[in-house]
Amino acid sequence: DELISQIAAGEVVERPASVVRELVDNALDAGATQITVRLLAGGVRLISVEDDGCGIPREELPVALRRHATSKIRDLQELEHVGTMGFRGEALAAIASVSETAILSRLDGEDNGWLLEARSGELRPAARNRGTTLEVKELFFSTPARRKFLKSDATELAHCIESVRRHALARPDVGFSIWHEGKLVEQWRAVPMGEGTDRNEALARRLSDVLGADFVASSIAVLRTSASSGITVYGRAGLPDAARSRPDQQYCYVNGRFVRDKVLTHAAKSAYEDVLHGHKQPIYALYMEIDPARVDVNVHPTKIEVRFRDSREVHQAIKHAVEDALAAPRA
Ligand code: ADP
Ligand code: MG
Repeated sequence: DELISQIAAGEVVERPASVVRELVDNALDAGATQITVRLLAGGVRLISVEDDGCGIPREELPVALRRHATSKIRDLQELEHVGTMGFRGEALAAIASVSETAILSRLDGEDNGWLLEARSGELRPAARNRGTTLEVKELFFSTPARRKFLKSDATELAHCIESVRRHALARPDVGFSIWHEGKLVEQWRAVPMGEGTDRNEALARRLSDVLGADFVASSIAVLRTSASSGITVYGRAGLPDAARSRPDQQYCYVNGRFVRDKVLTHAAKSAYEDVLHGHKQPIYALYMEIDPARVDVNVHPTKIEVRFRDSREVHQAIKHAVEDALAAPRA
């Protein structure tokens, strides 16, 4: 089983940033409002993700580490409209098989938390506030072949930060901070999202913190719902700017999930070409809301790829939304 877990881990855990992605997914699924990521040596020595979410009951701590144990869906029907980031129950088992993993968690109303060390199975009481901390040490210590593929600490750190950035752009209502070697490297404060808060306004604040005030200043709000498909697209489309042209700052989200998808990027690109006749790589953050039954998120273990039931309709929705924004008169 150890071997099977390690083989499965190859699909989910490629580098420290993949661990960060999975742990932050879990924190968000637990309803966290504040997530703190602490790293040593680009995440290779230590990745610790601390949240203030619902916590894990003591008796479920060992279950959380088991393969295919998920508390998030019960049957295949539920997969059709899964609202959580996770649902496969693979990540923690995979991570624990290639690292020294420990979980520390405390529920509301309990006197203390509990700490479980994955390798030894030792469970003991420990102090903390409500929420969960996952500690992942010495990633790939038992699989040196994999460890050899890791790049410099600085590069791995950059990937870890990018992983948190993708989450942060999806959740302005959650605060994030990232520490490396004891130093605060990024901090994005939660944007209060009360009743009646304009979604694009809240988003603009987070985008400004994460991608820079100059991005927001040189970008246009996108908001369009397609009457025929019911697909809503919102976000911000940056104006092409040679100085800031970067191929890696196109952020696309489907129902709150960061995805890499050719249909989406092609649609955005063709909107830019049609309206601005520009061929540069503008920065954008586009968020699509679509009936969950029309998209399959269970395509790849990392869930970064999705499959649309009707990709033509998705392409149109994105293209029209971006075209509308770019073609609108500007001051
Ligand atoms: P999945 O997210 O697909 O359910 P994981 O392996 O990522 O699978 O996590 C296994 C289980 O552990 C989750 O279903 C959840 O019950 C629990 N869990 C993991 N991380 C947290 C957390 N930060 N807060 C609360 N529960 C958690
Ligand atoms: Mg998960």
